[in-house]
Amino acid sequence: MTDFAKTRQMFDIPEGMIYLNGNSLGPMPKAAPAAMSSFLLDEWRTELIRGWNTKNWFMQTNTLGDRVGHLIGAAEGTTVVGDTLSIKVFQAVAASLAMDPERRIILSDSGNFPTDLYMVEGLMSLRDAGYELRAPAPTDVLDHITEEVATVMVTEVDYRTGRKHDMQAIIAKAHSVGATVVWDLAHSIGALPVDVAGTDADFAVGCTYKYLNAGPGAPAFIYVAPRLLDTVQPALSGWYAHEAPFAFDLDFRPMPGKIDRMRIGTPSIAAFSLLDAALDIWDSVDMNDLRTRSILLSETFIQAVEDRCPELTLASPRDPNQRGSHVAFKFEHGYSCIQALIAQGVIGDFRSPNIMRFGITPLFISLKDIEQAVTVLENILASKSWAKPEFQTRALVT
Ligand SMILES: *Cc1c(COP(=O)(O)O)cnc(C)c1O
Repeated sequence: MTDFAKTRQMFDIPEGMIYLNGNSLGPMPKAAPAAMSSFLLDEWRTELIRGWNTKNWFMQTNTLGDRVGHLIGAAEGTTVVGDTLSIKVFQAVAASLAMDPERRIILSDSGNFPTDLYMVEGLMSLRDAGYELRAPAPTDVLDHITEEVATVMVTEVDYRTGRKHDMQAIIAKAHSVGATVVWDLAHSIGALPVDVAGTDADFAVGCTYKYLNAGPGAPAFIYVAPRLLDTVQPALSGWYAHEAPFAFDLDFRPMPGKIDRMRIGTPSIAAFSLLDAALDIWDSVDMNDLRTRSILLSETFIQAVEDRCPELTLASPRDPNQRGSHVAFKFEHGYSCIQALIAQGVIGDFRSPNIMRFGITPLFISLKDIEQAVTVLENILASKSWAKPEFQTRALVT
């Protein structure tokens, strides 16, 4: 059994704060400062250029990739870390399209995080080959998977509503019509059990600064099914993907048969030190325990809000099996209400036009936190303190 009182102790969260935003940016692990300091003082300062060999910096894309892959059911040697999620989406979709040059349709959904759609738009304009991006309602994705479709690109858990796709069904249907799937795990990894190998996923991508707690701008990751590693085309063909980077050949030859071909260029080794420290916490976590606990906390939260805050309407699916690990409520004055909550140390966030989001992260959120957060919310609504002028101006980041 995972000891969630113990995992709570592994985070440095400001006194009195109830942090319901680990779905957007995880809190700092207590081990992070020492890990960063050790990188600076024991690696960069002392090793300098030698660190690429002596501290294995050059292969951390892969060693950390394996640790991340472990959390999504990936075999060793099938996941690498680096770059940003937007870049990894581009890379995965480009690779997927190259697998069937005859097909022209990329299928996503209208609930996807816009950067995923934007990156596909950019890719399509670069190729200028008559590609079309379709984005039906999330509930209609399965029906749109036809033999025209080259790539199904979906984010498993909707960043606004928390609605969860049935990935097993999507992958099975896509494969039955000869399409491939790019599975965005941004709101899945560290939030619920994922089995990329068991579901026979083609590509998976995600970030590590949300539920994995590796810090703002932490590296993204990409998974490629072992059966594709010989043939997958790295559209972003940087020298880290080369068969022999230090041969400095003028021609690009992708590393044969290995996930290395999805590496691009020099990653941030400083950021890797934070990812490594964050992953240590996950060594003691069982994903099924995490899921059970996430559902208990979410159900408690939803019930308490519905009982005590009638102004809010649930925007997430009511069935916990159809949700990820955050809960969304609609409220006309949602932005102001979130600001009023933040002013009292209850941190959630807001997504346009009227969604209040609350991340339910068992590693550091307890039943008591949920209870207290709802009390603060209830008082804000009862007193209408959200209407104060200081809660009305929109910041750059909501
Ligand atoms: C958070 C998130 C992103 C963010 O992309 P970055 O390149 O890391 O800024 C992209 N896609 C989805 C689905 C997300 O949830």
